[in-house]
Amino acid sequence: MSECPVCGANISVADDVVKGELLECDDCGTELEVKNIDPLKIEEAPEAEEDWGQ
Ligand SMILES: [Zn+2]
Repeated sequence: MSECPVCGANISVADDVVKGELLECDDCGTELEVKNIDPLKIEEAPEAEEDWGQ
């Protein structure tokens, strides 16, 4: 179990989750990326189409 970095909701993470796996917060719908397994660290996934330098 982890916490959404955006809204703070509890995120259920599978036991076999792997680093780099993408999850979606059930509460706010934000796409999240597993940054580390032990300790478990989840961050907001970068937007696929982001406008840089604008
Ligand atoms: Zn959330």
